[in-house]
Amino acid sequence: MTARIQTSVLELRNELDEVRAGGRRVGVVPTMGALHEGHLSLIREAARRAEEVVVTIFVNPTQFGPNEDFERYPRDLENDTKRAESAGATIIFAPPVAEMYPSGEQTRVRVVGLSRGLCGESRPGHFEGVATVVAKLFNAVGPGCYIFGQKDFQQWRLIEQMARDLLFPVEIVGMPIVREPDGMALSSRNAYLKPGERLRALTLARSLQHAIEAYRSGVRDSGRLVDGVSAELAKDVRVDYVEIRDPSSLDPIVGEFSGPVLLAVAGYVGSTRLIDNVVLCSTVADILPGGAQ
Ligand code: AMP
Repeated sequence: MTARIQTSVLELRNELDEVRAGGRRVGVVPTMGALHEGHLSLIREAARRAEEVVVTIFVNPTQFGPNEDFERYPRDLENDTKRAESAGATIIFAPPVAEMYPSGEQTRVRVVGLSRGLCGESRPGHFEGVATVVAKLFNAVGPGCYIFGQKDFQQWRLIEQMARDLLFPVEIVGMPIVREPDGMALSSRNAYLKPGERLRALTLARSLQHAIEAYRSGVRDSGRLVDGVSAELAKDVRVDYVEIRDPSSLDPIVGEFSGPVLLAVAGYVGSTRLIDNVVLCSTVADILPGGAQ
């Protein structure tokens, strides 16, 4: 089916108000484009939950730092539209920057607690940009079920919190990370990796797999897990952080733990910043085929 492309907030809102008035449910997948299987899994989930599936494609300038990759971020609306359609998108919302940030705008949204630490530490202002643009999307698209990936675990948690705090009439769903057959988490930024770097980047997933195996063998000490992952990661990656956090509050976990924990890693391979994570719990599955080599 062909999706309709919308670029105007007003027209999108009018169209979706009619959709909702007709009793059709709205599912929404916010993205920055350069769509891959990870994004498509979110779109398929939206299509399972709703009759109208909106995929937003917007490279949001306010979530990029001054020395980050806003300018060179991959953009290919035609190809993205085809992929989104194939997964069940019925509307593509691809606004120009001036539509999302009208001239003279001066409002930002900050989720005070959950934006601290992890990626918030190394990317100052990033989550303020994310919360601001997602709040705008909630208002532009309106009530519905919004699907996010747990690849960006902190982002997903922060958006859930913002939706609750600001009483947005939305449902937030978090979906599992989609990986390449070798275990590497899919990311639009993987396109930046040169062939040798792609091999080194697999160390992120491998370091998490080591932690999964340590966890399964009974290790419940966060310091020990962090040290093991850091050592593995440092072989190929310039480590940004390796952290163990409560999966719900994202509070740091120090020493022994008993319940499920989030293990999150970030690092640079060349100039490309990559992130990955796993929730360690009794049902945690392997992320590398055949375990750690
Ligand atoms: P992005 O276009 O990178 O802003 O991502 C848009 C949405 O896709 C976010 O909710 C991401 O968490 C999600 N996403 C990105 N990569 C993956 C992946 N490998 N698996 C599942 N979801 C993903």
